[in-house]
Amino acid sequence: MRLAGRDLLAMPESRLRRVRGADVGFVFQDPLTALDPAMTVGEQLVETLRCHRGIRRPAARRRAAELLELVGIPEPGAALDRFPRQFSGGMRQRVLIALAICCDPALLIADEATTALDPTVQIQILSLLRRLRRELGMALIVISHDLGVIAAVCDRVQVMYGGVVVEHGPVPQVLAAPRHPYTAGLLRLAPRFEHRTHRRLRPIPGMALTVTGTRHDCRFADRCELADDRCRTEVPPWSHTADGRHGSACWRPPTAVAALASAAPTPQEVR
Ligand code: SF4
Repeated sequence: MRLAGRDLLAMPESRLRRVRGADVGFVFQDPLTALDPAMTVGEQLVETLRCHRGIRRPAARRRAAELLELVGIPEPGAALDRFPRQFSGGMRQRVLIALAICCDPALLIADEATTALDPTVQIQILSLLRRLRRELGMALIVISHDLGVIAAVCDRVQVMYGGVVVEHGPVPQVLAAPRHPYTAGLLRLAPRFEHRTHRRLRPIPGMALTVTGTRHDCRFADRCELADDRCRTEVPPWSHTADGRHGSACWRPPTAVAALASAAPTPQEVR
């Protein structure tokens, strides 16, 4: 696991502590629990800036106000003296993003950063992340169960199941032509305006997998409509498109997965 040429897994904990929060920013799902309820927003920003950047308190406070303005908090000077509970959910998430980017990280990780927000605020936060990525020139990793969020923000996607990557590629290709049955199943679950037949959403059968130890099968086999005996005894190989940019780990050819993704609804699925 390398960041700007440095092996993070080989770093001692003392150096990793300096990387976290400075070189890597993190936006959590629930800002109410991620922010300290006993400290004002300004104190939390100033503390982070002083800890990682070693700047004096007045300069840190000026920078904190600039950051709040950058993420779209109205009256940033006054907002510094408010506590997290005095902000709405969307504004709290903006504060959390300001904290995550306050040290100009090379990488920002947003873990389900919009899941707890209502759809209107979700769109605002996604466009904020897109703008900050562009303006600050940082890399952005979005972790989400929501393919709509991925489509709105990301260039490339890795689909994971049971702790391993099962498909990767540019977002438009993966969403338009999934090569793995799990991705196809997730896409079938996304409500779409063009489904004028009032198609019922078809859940992926079974439960999510808890993986312990090494496995010698396809982790998705118990839930896969295309599974056969080989899937239960051998780890599937990777195959890629001709340009090598879009790949998946599956025994079945992409044509079989495409048929699954575009399958006509059954009578039970139409209401
Ligand atoms: S390897 Fe088999 S079980 Fe696994 S996703 Fe492909 S078809 Fe399904």
